[in-house]
Amino acid sequence: MTLFAIFGDPVAHSRSPLMHNHVFKSLGFNGCYTRIQLHDGTKLKQTFLDLKLSGANITVPHKEAAFEACDEIRGFANKVGVVNTIINDNGRLIGYNTDADGFMYAIKPFGEIKTVLVLGAGGTAKALSMRFQDEGMDVTIMNRSEGRLQTYKKDGFKTATWESVEVKPYDLIVNTTSAGLEDESLPAPKELLDALLQKASFGADAIYGKVTPFLKLCSTHKLTAKDGADMLLGQGVLANDLFTNQQYDLSKIETRMKESFSF
Ligand code: NDP
Repeated sequence: MTLFAIFGDPVAHSRSPLMHNHVFKSLGFNGCYTRIQLHDGTKLKQTFLDLKLSGANITVPHKEAAFEACDEIRGFANKVGVVNTIINDNGRLIGYNTDADGFMYAIKPFGEIKTVLVLGAGGTAKALSMRFQDEGMDVTIMNRSEGRLQTYKKDGFKTATWESVEVKPYDLIVNTTSAGLEDESLPAPKELLDALLQKASFGADAIYGKVTPFLKLCSTHKLTAKDGADMLLGQGVLANDLFTNQQYDLSKIETRMKESFSF
């Protein structure tokens, strides 16, 4: 039996154990997936090795620490410095990022998106905005504080705080902050969000499993918006493909994983 886990803090809300265990069981893969609340991100590698995990997912707030913990980084994670999936390769930790592809999968139904306003400047914001940039979109990152915006500036992104953001018609506004995850707060002052959403075409929230205050505000403005469930599905399918050594069709993993959403 191989063991997998999700590391986070908080982590109790995570649906990943349900999703991956259902896929493992229904595809006949001998694996078990659990959740681990980790306060100190610097303990990630030792905890992973002590538990003899075969693989893991990483969520808030340890995705950057996960990047540091890995012995080797592959693919898109190299570009963003953010890891959400780790595979144990004979004691070496190999890091990947499947979040950005998961999100691109989620917004496909919105059609062509040219301008995006990303709310938040953490790990998820980084992965998504780099992918948006790769797709040729015009990306602006807005964060409540200046600190985390510096690296984005260096990478050539337009950045703004609540005070300096340009209120113009963005095709898509994405909430990647954790505002609304465990509380009922909005990711920015309501008056500012009202002005932005009034002009926007689509909204999306990375948070899943609840209608966040941000999503409620989107619907007040009659905006087509989606929560993070499809992003969760997309990143989960790709992570499961890595966990199971790419031995199953992606479509089979996706079908099984989708089933677990109704549990
Ligand atoms: P990080 O901790 O790396 O970043 C959090 C960001 O949110 C920071 O920019 C922070 O701003 C901002 N923030 C936190 N609280 C507030 C608040 N009350 N008001 C305004 N801004 C706030 O988190 P991640 O990027 O890893 O994750 C962000 C969210 O995305 C989480 O809710 C997570 O669950 C969700 N997620 C969902 C996925 C899915 O599959 N659906 C996949 C990945 C993430 P500051 O710099 O000022 O502190």
